[in-house]
Amino acid sequence: MYPSKFDYVRVQSVEEAVRVLGEHGEEARVLAGGHSLIPLMKLRVLRPKYLIDIGGIQGLKYIRRDKNTLRIGALTTYFELENSLEVSRTHQVIASGASVVGDPQVRNWGTIGGSLSHCDPSGDMGSCVLAARGLMHVRGPSETRTVESDNWFVDTFQSALRQGEILEEIEFQVPPGKLGGAYLKLERKSGDYAIVGVAVSLALDSSGKCSYAGIGLTSVGATNLRAKNAENAILGKIPTKEVISEASEEAFKEVTPSDDPLRGSAEYKKEMVRVYVRRGLEKALEAARSS
Ligand SMILES: Cc1cc2nc3c(=O)[nH]c(=O)nc-3n(C[C@H](O)[C@H](O)[C@H](O)COP(=O)(O)OP(=O)(O)OC[C@H]3O[C@@H](n4cnc5c(N)ncnc54)[C@H](O)[C@@H]3O)c2cc1C
Repeated sequence: MYPSKFDYVRVQSVEEAVRVLGEHGEEARVLAGGHSLIPLMKLRVLRPKYLIDIGGIQGLKYIRRDKNTLRIGALTTYFELENSLEVSRTHQVIASGASVVGDPQVRNWGTIGGSLSHCDPSGDMGSCVLAARGLMHVRGPSETRTVESDNWFVDTFQSALRQGEILEEIEFQVPPGKLGGAYLKLERKSGDYAIVGVAVSLALDSSGKCSYAGIGLTSVGATNLRAKNAENAILGKIPTKEVISEASEEAFKEVTPSDDPLRGSAEYKKEMVRVYVRRGLEKALEAARSS
């Protein structure tokens, strides 16, 4: 399968990317790792006339810590996230999620910015960013703006990015306390998209109570979702077996997935949310307690 004809522009800076995007409007698409865009072009679902390759912008590839802030450039690959000690030290959920995306080839090319811009509800990274309450820094032709992760996932394949904007950076605050995180993915076979995915990020205070809880869900709605009732069921409490069970029950109640002919019925997915939220909380808790 071949994509329809397009012109290719390789840009060297975000400013140049935004300018060229502005010149071509809706006829142009940004190319990052290409692992979602190129397949869609080959299927001719998308037929951009201009591809603006941002892959050479060195200023978008970084993982930086500045006191209690972790900053990740949009072109950082899954492989880099998965193997970064800086990321796993405070945001284990991001490293854990990155490690189960597709196969090594996908992880070598696919970028966090591409995944979040693509906004696939089956994308693993979206749930991890929701659990860690990422802030998306975006640059457009006339302004830069910041979008909270809660407002980023607008609809299926629709992020909060506006025409002509580039996602530059994802920022994460480090919550105080003992930290732990995990991403668990139920898949038909290794490397597949999730039947259900659960991202958990927790912090415990000095008395062992949960002082931060983030739970993101994959493949159970029109977008990646936050399980807010489940988070509230554990916040401020010592996460005993009963509390964890209560939280997973809340997650079960708050999702309304649809039937998927390939990956299971709505009923099955709902049940798996209950099981995987419990397991994810247990795993994140174990990591926090031993941190
Ligand atoms: C075989 C295979 C298996 C896969 N399995 C999984 C999986 O298990 N889990 C999973 O989550 N994903 C999976 N993916 C998708 C993969 O994660 C993609 O890499 C990712 O969704 C997109 O990242 P990218 O850098 O390749 O973006 P691209 O494909 O280059 O771009 C994707 C979209 O985002 C836009 N875009 C990219 N970067 C920016 C930016 N900085 N600012 C503005 N817009 C931007 C592009 O214009 C395009 O519309 C799989 C892909 C393949 C091919």
